Amino acid sequence: MNRITNHRKTFLDILIELKENQITSIVPTFRPLVGYLYNDISVENLESQINILEELYRLGICYREIKVSTLQCEICQCNEFIPHLSCSLCSSTQIIKHTGIKHDICGTTNFKDKYLRFNGDLICPKCNLKLNAVGVDYSVIETLYKCLRCKSFVSEGRWINRCRRCMNTTSKNNIQLLELFGYVVDLDKVTEFIQSHDLLLYVDYALKKANIKSTLKHSIKGISKLDHTFSIVVSNNSSHNIVIDIINFENNSDMTKFNVLNFVTKCSDIKAIQKILISIPSLNEELRTLCFNHGITVLMAKDKEEAVFELIKMISNVFMVNLHES
Ligand SMILES: [Zn+2]
Ligand SMILES: [Zn+2]
Ligand SMILES: [Zn+2]
Repeated sequence: MNRITNHRKTFLDILIELKENQITSIVPTFRPLVGYLYNDISVENLESQINILEELYRLGICYREIKVSTLQCEICQCNEFIPHLSCSLCSSTQIIKHTGIKHDICGTTNFKDKYLRFNGDLICPKCNLKLNAVGVDYSVIETLYKCLRCKSFVSEGRWINRCRRCMNTTSKNNIQLLELFGYVVDLDKVTEFIQSHDLLLYVDYALKKANIKSTLKHSIKGISKLDHTFSIVVSNNSSHNIVIDIINFENNSDMTKFNVLNFVTKCSDIKAIQKILISIPSLNEELRTLCFNHGITVLMAKDKEEAVFELIKMISNVFMVNLHES
């Protein structure tokens, strides 16, 4: 069989990996020089990993809870930053830091080395008075910043984060948080999804190869205004639809019956030139009769190769007849 290489197959590949490795818990882990990644999802970057995990969540295959929040660039969604300290007055990043002294008598603030003389005396660089004792006529500021652009002294700098990828800067005021979830995977649901979609993707791929325009998981609005989703919808240019569902569970199970009834109900609410139910291996007599009575064609095949072969033949016939009529 040809390898199906569209993006859905990649998603399916991930599910198969989860199942084979029996992975039930997926959490973000921090890697030096790289940042946060989900190691169990083998795609290239965090964004793609999140897309896949959120799709799993949307499909009800896993639960999630927030594990860690990290900064995210609002321009490019990257989550790697280089922190910079900037002047809180003019935003310049030309900032230096030393121990400072405030002379309480004249109100001057400056770095300690501007006061310090060779003999160890502290002399105010502005009023030239000798400083006596800390707490009496001057105070020590352990961390004092000076901006080299606007020459101001400030006791606190402002942190800004520069995105490693697009260079955009993020500060406290326009911060964007990326909430990273931990996911708990339901492996039974993974298995269920793989079983139903492997065949579906195979059929979809074969139709596309035969130049038949098909859409997976397509919704059609019913006469009742309800939306009905079919496994595959095939349309020709004059927008005549053929709707197809696929059943590949073991015969006579409750699941099979449920799926057949579901298809019958959906079909009774829409207009389509052909309604096809693919069944591998085969439906029992009662369900076949039910379909027949509702104008549904049941395509029974022993395997997916046969199903695809018969389906393409059927679709071609339907469209040929219809094109002649219109
Ligand atoms: Zn400044
Ligand atoms: Zn002074
Ligand atoms: Zn960025």
